Amino acid sequence: MAEMVPAALMRAPGVLEIDEFPMPSVDADAGLLRVEATGLVGADYEFYTDYDGAFAEAVRISYPFIPGHIVTGRIDKLGSIAHERWKLQEGDRVLLQYNVLCNYCAECMRGELHACENLKGYGLWFDFGSPPYLWGGAAKFMMLHPNTKMVRIPEGPDAASVLLLERFADAANWLLELGQLTVRDRIVIMGTGALAQAAVTVAKMAGAYPVIAVARSSSGRIEQMRHLGADHVFTGSQDEVASAVAEVTNGRMASVVVDVTRRDALDVTALAMEVLAYRGRLVQVALKVPGPMQGIDNMMTKEVSIIGAQGHEFQHLEWAATCLDRPECATYLASKVTSYALEDTKAALDRPLTLDGATMAVVYPNGMP
Ligand SMILES: [Zn+2]
Repeated sequence: MAEMVPAALMRAPGVLEIDEFPMPSVDADAGLLRVEATGLVGADYEFYTDYDGAFAEAVRISYPFIPGHIVTGRIDKLGSIAHERWKLQEGDRVLLQYNVLCNYCAECMRGELHACENLKGYGLWFDFGSPPYLWGGAAKFMMLHPNTKMVRIPEGPDAASVLLLERFADAANWLLELGQLTVRDRIVIMGTGALAQAAVTVAKMAGAYPVIAVARSSSGRIEQMRHLGADHVFTGSQDEVASAVAEVTNGRMASVVVDVTRRDALDVTALAMEVLAYRGRLVQVALKVPGPMQGIDNMMTKEVSIIGAQGHEFQHLEWAATCLDRPECATYLASKVTSYALEDTKAALDRPLTLDGATMAVVYPNGMP
């Protein structure tokens, strides 16, 4: 009988089961990953609770799929062509770039990578309904598409820290590249989740001052934001937060605001507009569905720029991998995570991360560390 590979399959919002798929064969230009760990983060929880289908539609997800787009593991099998192209060996430890580009469409030719007309993504945008099925991290083994990009990871760091590096790649793209954050900037970070925490760290590395975090409610994460180096953490009504930002910026307000709140936090945009300085930049990461963004009427009088941002490219992941050795990143990389075996993936998604003050739920398909 063919060897079977267990994997967690999200069939619909709220429905996740462990299923088995045939162990795939590996073509000469592809590979197979033995998954060490995969991280479940905000987007996965949004998919799991997306009963109106609005989030999945906006992100172009269709069920069923194997979740897990942040993945680290070891190369288990490697085709001869892939071996030459990737310069990797079987047994090497790697962290995957989540998106997989076709490299031949007009947008890929122009380097507009997130606009790839045939975009695929681990744990997100693959055909999970036909062989070889195994395109998500919540599985014992995962296919490596010929166009996969990945960084080699040394043996030392624990898998949770390796997965958290991926959040630095996002923060680097949103704050440094798209937001052009420098020592000139005063930044407000809306949110307290994994991405907001990575954003605090990267904003401090960029030299922005002050780094202000805004929490939507009191939670253990406020202390964590301070611990990561946020100069101020504010919570309260829109008026209270705006007054507090005015006070600590001597009335200059924030030159950059990054919104990494939940999709149903529809009031955040109005607050963002209020705390933005004249000609400030709003880096809009959080998808807001359903409904329009509130508060954009201030956009004209303040001459603000709104910069849409999603994910990261491989270059940002490479940058993030260097954070393993940077002392400024150590606090974030030691963030609290919760740990689950593959068969408990549903339990992980049934339990909001905020209950544990965790940054990420880590699923270990090949055994807990
Ligand atoms: Zn393409």
